[in-house]
Amino acid sequence: MSSEFNLIDRFFVQNNVSRSDVDLGIGDDCALVSVPEGYQVAITTDTLAAGTHFLIDADPVKVGYKALASNLSDLAAMGAKPTWVSLALTLPKPDEKWLEGFCEGFFGLAKQHNVQLIGGDTTKGPLSITITVQGLVPTGEGLTRKGAKVGDDIYVTGFIGDSAAGLEILLDTNKQIKTQLEQELEHRHYYSNPKVQLAQKIRHLCHSALDISDGLISDLGHILKQSNVSAKIQVNALPISDELLAFYSHDIDKCLKTALVSGEEYELCFTAPKENREAIKQISFLLNHDVSIIGEISEGPFTTLDNNVKLRKDSILLDWVLYGYDHFRN
Ligand code: ADP
Ligand code: MG
Repeated sequence: MSSEFNLIDRFFVQNNVSRSDVDLGIGDDCALVSVPEGYQVAITTDTLAAGTHFLIDADPVKVGYKALASNLSDLAAMGAKPTWVSLALTLPKPDEKWLEGFCEGFFGLAKQHNVQLIGGDTTKGPLSITITVQGLVPTGEGLTRKGAKVGDDIYVTGFIGDSAAGLEILLDTNKQIKTQLEQELEHRHYYSNPKVQLAQKIRHLCHSALDISDGLISDLGHILKQSNVSAKIQVNALPISDELLAFYSHDIDKCLKTALVSGEEYELCFTAPKENREAIKQISFLLNHDVSIIGEISEGPFTTLDNNVKLRKDSILLDWVLYGYDHFRN
């Protein structure tokens, strides 16, 4: 059986990315990194607990990818460039097969973004993964939730709703054989693509941003609250994938409702003045990302989410009770 230190060396040192700004990596009491002049460090932490964020028997490759992707998505939402990551891993036992899969997913994505693992902790207990990722953003240029202005366009990247449909499929224990469509949606649930590069390129054109982790309605609510504004959402403009439409047999209302509340999308929601429309369109086109304008920031202090997110389409949609994911809501 491997010791803790053998495991760390075999799985976390040998697979690692190497960056020149890491002065001291894994192996000492702390890591030491150099921060270039004129930059701030953006820092974010996310936990994935077995049974809450993924099924206990989920493919570890997917879990490793998703754990890092959700953190990178937070950095993207700040407009930061990812640099360093630490990993606190709690394992029921030193399961080498599981660790191999986890590292494949984790380091596969870390390499794509040139993020170096600089430390962490390994403990015994119920399976849980806590990742802290750090990145660099030019001083004062970080994209926050509190900058939205009346008249701003509201954007989302990619398609929304697929992650919820994917989760529905993977939780359906009656489904032994999955169609290609179902497999694709399930894949999208695990393999989001953090919009790190796009966010850095459009950062200067935006007033506010966040990533969609709890559902558009819930997350956009944070921008509204912190910016002291309201929003009008054009529900018909929500970007729905052909796959979602097919999965819900072209029931548009079902698709739109799913898109409004689907969590773990890791798409960006951002606001920007209308005069930047063309520039944003061009940059997203060049980077091969879809972006959609889904509404407009309007006046008024935020009171409650349901009153202020005005759904314009029709009365059926207004009757929806819309909540994003909240771990502690009954
Ligand atoms: P300490 O007792 O000082 O907390 P540890 O024995 O926990 O140190 O860890 C030894 C080294 O290995 C440290 O540099 C730590 O950051 C690193 N480390 C431990 N677990 C992990 C992990 N899961 N991923 C990356 N680095 C790790
Ligand atoms: Mg330790």
